[in-house]
Amino acid sequence: MQVYLDNSATTMPCEAAINSALRLMKEEFGNPSSLHSKGFDASQILEQSRGVIADSLSVSPNCIYFTPCGTVSNNTAIFGAANTLKRRGRKIVTTAFEHPSVAKCMDKLSEDGFDVVRIAPDVNGNIPLSEFESAIDENTVLVSLMAVNNEVGTVLPFDKIKKIIKRKNSYALLHVDAVQGYMKINIKPEKCGIDLMSVSAHKVHALKGSGALYIAKDVRIKPYILGGGQENGICSGTQAMPNIAAFSAAVKELGDIKSRYEKISELGFYLKNELLKIDGVYLNSPDDAIPYIINISLQGIPSQVSVNYMSSKGICISAGSACSKGHRSEALTAMRLSPERIDSAVRLSLCYNNTKEEMDYFTVTVKNAFSELSKK
Ligand code: PLP
Repeated sequence: MQVYLDNSATTMPCEAAINSALRLMKEEFGNPSSLHSKGFDASQILEQSRGVIADSLSVSPNCIYFTPCGTVSNNTAIFGAANTLKRRGRKIVTTAFEHPSVAKCMDKLSEDGFDVVRIAPDVNGNIPLSEFESAIDENTVLVSLMAVNNEVGTVLPFDKIKKIIKRKNSYALLHVDAVQGYMKINIKPEKCGIDLMSVSAHKVHALKGSGALYIAKDVRIKPYILGGGQENGICSGTQAMPNIAAFSAAVKELGDIKSRYEKISELGFYLKNELLKIDGVYLNSPDDAIPYIINISLQGIPSQVSVNYMSSKGICISAGSACSKGHRSEALTAMRLSPERIDSAVRLSLCYNNTKEEMDYFTVTVKNAFSELSKK
């Protein structure tokens, strides 16, 4: 049996995404900037796709800028905001468990003289609003936080930060890295006062090579990538049309967030219950984490050994987050788990394609892992 439980690393492209990409590669291969019929056709598809992503967030298409991935969206938002506002202040507030595509931008801004405050999560993997309240002041020019943590699945209070920024008379722009939250939870950037928001196509059953940055109507940031001025100058470079068309096809296909959330909740609840019946399995994700991400420790089995064992049985999972190879997890360290728990942690990440039979197969394989690996 093949079981894919690494959907936070990447998802399997859906049929609609694959068919759209193929059609664009075979038939509609024009450059949307070209001034002939093939170009006009491509440009029409580009704008239709923009409309679909905009609709999924209930915003105007003018606020959506296509990028090559979540990483470029994050870099564009963070460097763009910092460069635009640096005369107003030099303080940036973020969290201590951001994805490297945010954390490393913060390292660079810190080297360049910004005062970067990184708030650590509490033992539940959460960051209480009061921590942001204390950190944000009138010198803060950017607040950047993820919507959903990629390792343990906690939902951060991104929807309540704008009020604090206003109360503190700060010029800060609010950037949300919604790569793990987009299409899993309902995020309405306009309603929450989000200024900049990053999403990525390959996490929502589309292809690698496309993402988007939402920029609120009244917000102007300096571009980070310079070139031919595509995407209104925000992200130059010829748009990856097959990927963009696939992105919008996948988002259309995903449809209703709530019913999918309910299905995954049921499946996740079942899996957690079955796993917790096994001696030596510990749940690291907090109870209020999204059901799509389940972080567990298998006592006494190093993370990579579990990943290899599962892989040999046809199951794909990841050791913590796929991007944190060789580093002890920031989230689990901040949650003050013991080194043994952290070093035996694995992340299971679900999608709508997973079944109860797959959960049963995974559970049995965990039992077998304990008996077979402890013999060695
Ligand atoms: N932000 C978060 C929270 C992520 O989990 C990831 C990827 O795993 C990214 C950003 C980067 O997205 P991409 O792979 O599209 O560059």
